[in-house]
Amino acid sequence: MAVHYLVRPLDPAAHLFEVELTVDAPDPRGQALRLPAWIPGSYMIREFARHIVTINARDDVGAVPLARGGKDTWIAGPCEGPLRVRATVYAWDLSVRAAHLDETHGFFNGTSLLLCAIGHEHGPHRLTLSLDHPTTTGWRVATTLPRVEGLPWGPGTFEAADYDQLIDHPFELGTFAHASFTACGVHHDVVVTGVIHADLDRLCRDLAPICEAQIRLFGERPPFDTYLFMVMAVGDGYGGLEHRDSTALICKRGDLPQPGVAEITDEYRSFLGLCSHEYFHAWNVKRLKPAVFVPYDLWREGHTSLLWAFEGVTSYYDDLGLVRSGVIDPASYYELLGRTVTQVLRMPGQHVESLDTASYDAWTKYYRQDENFPNAHVSYYTKGALVGLCLDLLLRDATDERCSLDAVWQALWARWGDGSGVPEDGVEATALALAPDHADTLRAFFDGAIRGTAELPLASALRAVGLRLNLRPATGDKDAGGKPGGKDTRPGQGDLGVKVGAGGRLAQVYTGGAAHLAGLSAGDQLIAMDDLKVDDASLTRRVRALPPDTTVRLHVFRRDELRAFNAVLQPPPATTAWIDEDPDASPEAVARRERWLRPTKA
Ligand code: ZN
Repeated sequence: MAVHYLVRPLDPAAHLFEVELTVDAPDPRGQALRLPAWIPGSYMIREFARHIVTINARDDVGAVPLARGGKDTWIAGPCEGPLRVRATVYAWDLSVRAAHLDETHGFFNGTSLLLCAIGHEHGPHRLTLSLDHPTTTGWRVATTLPRVEGLPWGPGTFEAADYDQLIDHPFELGTFAHASFTACGVHHDVVVTGVIHADLDRLCRDLAPICEAQIRLFGERPPFDTYLFMVMAVGDGYGGLEHRDSTALICKRGDLPQPGVAEITDEYRSFLGLCSHEYFHAWNVKRLKPAVFVPYDLWREGHTSLLWAFEGVTSYYDDLGLVRSGVIDPASYYELLGRTVTQVLRMPGQHVESLDTASYDAWTKYYRQDENFPNAHVSYYTKGALVGLCLDLLLRDATDERCSLDAVWQALWARWGDGSGVPEDGVEATALALAPDHADTLRAFFDGAIRGTAELPLASALRAVGLRLNLRPATGDKDAGGKPGGKDTRPGQGDLGVKVGAGGRLAQVYTGGAAHLAGLSAGDQLIAMDDLKVDDASLTRRVRALPPDTTVRLHVFRRDELRAFNAVLQPPPATTAWIDEDPDASPEAVARRERWLRPTKA
């Protein structure tokens, strides 16, 4: 085997993995070895090499010198015969993006542990996982990397066709809970690590139809033989990372379905949405991907203006998959849509930054958000999802349902699903080719929604399927939208235009709001309003008790300096959205809505 890794938990208490890499035919003048700077799917330079604690090399004769070739590069040589490089790697990042090891479990992505032998990356790679530390007695192994040796769920040897495949199959090691289900004839596993009291049979019953809805969108046969959901359940956490045959997820314990609870709680619905999202990525971004990711340059940023299509459209289909599968009802789906609209409307930056720019700059903007993010930037996830919604409903309406976003993504899949890479203009060109009679309308939509900052035609898109977009002010700090608001809606009350963080510190000051116009800044420590002490709990209540146009005197500490500002309260912005069915919708619009939400029954 050209490149062979031996991975073992070396010292779980010190969070150290040991990795021994053997290169059979190293470059005799000096074999370069590099650890990736980022992990595909998470667009930020993370410099995983900083976690390498020790590293040394030897060949058949003895020790081989290791020269440095940069922050993530070692050059071993000269050497004779096979080269062996041994490294210890610190693994104490409890996220889906890196590696983690303690006495309860181990998790790793190849990008954190497996040095790339430059020049050999296109050849086969083997990985032998050994569990010989006493702490790991009884541990099992979950991964989708193809196994060539050892019993299922045990340690053994695994093989990848190349380095790109090797690093796309994370490993979970431990005493996880395990359940499985079948979707469209394909075997799916779920493993859950952590202290949990959850109904995994229920989870499988709900995941199966969601997976089937996504499989049917692209065709009966999914592009993998089996699929694995690997879940880490913790006290507080949320996130996922997509891989070609699996996903790594982190969630709160309470997000998982609890035994004896029949309803789908908000938390469980979010978790199902996360599963649906990462699963959809098995098509959209893992195989159908921007051309700039073919191949991935794992050592520098890969800029694409298409993340709105790969993350935003995936976000559109994640919740849509929940209702199309019948796991949630349409009313529950409208609530999710209303919340997404609310998130976008509450960001002034949607009028400043276009989606193609937000996509291109994800590395330095979305992934490195500061206090000004909502004023200057837009999320290609949430606004991208709404672009997907608008494009879908407008296409259905304009073409009498001969075309839809489903058809666009099916066409993209047919053309570039082989991994050859979607060009930067590929999504728009595909939509135009499918609806040539509406080319001008589509071009104008892309100009405004993707390349510009025009208001999205949400209300008219929803009207085409007999739905109404309703807007109202927020009822309080915890109001995420999606619901009518009920008795707590008190429009006409004062608003300061801030988000207050812990201890009364201003986390965000929104452009154009009362606080901004008065001169307040994010980071200011609010201490008094109208000469009376305020804290984060009382501020919103007291501001809401006053009518708009009231002038309030605010005392803050900016750094260690006391400052006073006079702010004129504004009416609360009607940026909280909820969506409902229009009782006066035409029968045609209602029928269209049913075909949109239940395509398999159409
Ligand atoms: Zn995603």
